[in-house]
Amino acid sequence: MRKVLLITGASAGIGAATARLAATRGYDLALNYNNDRAGAEAVAKDAEAAGARTLICQADVAEPEQITHMYQQVDATFGRLDALVNNAGVVDQTARVTEMTHARLRRMFDINVIGAILVAKEAVQRMQAQGDGGAIVNVSSAAARLGSGGQYVDYAASKAAIDTFTKGLSDEVAGENIRVNSVRPGLIETDIHAKGGEAGRAQRLAHMVPMQRTGSAGEVADAILYLLSDEASYVTGSMLEVTGGR
Ligand code: NAP
Repeated sequence: MRKVLLITGASAGIGAATARLAATRGYDLALNYNNDRAGAEAVAKDAEAAGARTLICQADVAEPEQITHMYQQVDATFGRLDALVNNAGVVDQTARVTEMTHARLRRMFDINVIGAILVAKEAVQRMQAQGDGGAIVNVSSAAARLGSGGQYVDYAASKAAIDTFTKGLSDEVAGENIRVNSVRPGLIETDIHAKGGEAGRAQRLAHMVPMQRTGSAGEVADAILYLLSDEASYVTGSMLEVTGGR
């Protein structure tokens, strides 16, 4: 039987690459997006061609009632949930802490932290009720340990919160065979850099990477699919670096 995987932020970048790969690995997919319906539809089309059943579910993860509605759709379509990739996230314009507004900090933490925790909460509730385990991968960032001073400390702090949440939640649910891990991507070629106001950011900083190059969304997807898989059956509470050594 195909497992059911929910991916938040599946319309672009790492989430889209993860969805396309997961479809080829035997998962049925609930594909969340916020604004980019066309992106989500293109992913769904490819996933269905690979044999997956798909559900496209719009929800802003910063809005708790939209998370509830998303899960209602997942329940109605699939009736179960085996895995979650908590991937939806944002950066913001380069700024120093002295320039950051309350509104900016609220948006960053509402999406990257509170949204991710609420999405995981609903997933765990379903996995516990099913009683046969599950796997969650939270998408963190190398920024969690680099701090991103002079760029976006608020983003780095939000990802550090995700790592701490990963460890704590993994301890809470390990006895129920629900594994919780995070990946920490480094400089990955996606549109997130353009959305943060600097399209060429990953290329500009590539020289700082020991491997001397940026990574692809597909390389992060490979790591996520490993952590979801039975090959990682004894891996929980871990943070897997996907950074080219940075
Ligand atoms: P991306 O290409 O900009 O994609 C972001 C995805 O998140 C989109 O599908 C977007 O949906 C979704 N999203 C954003 N805000 C949302 C919200 N409020 N509710 C629901 N979905 C929302 O970015 P990416 O590079 O793939 O990033 C994916 C994750 O990797 C993020 O958590 C990011 O922090 C992390 N990461 C990325 C890098 C990198 O270098 N790219 C490095 C480290 C960590 P819509 O477009 O439909 O709104």
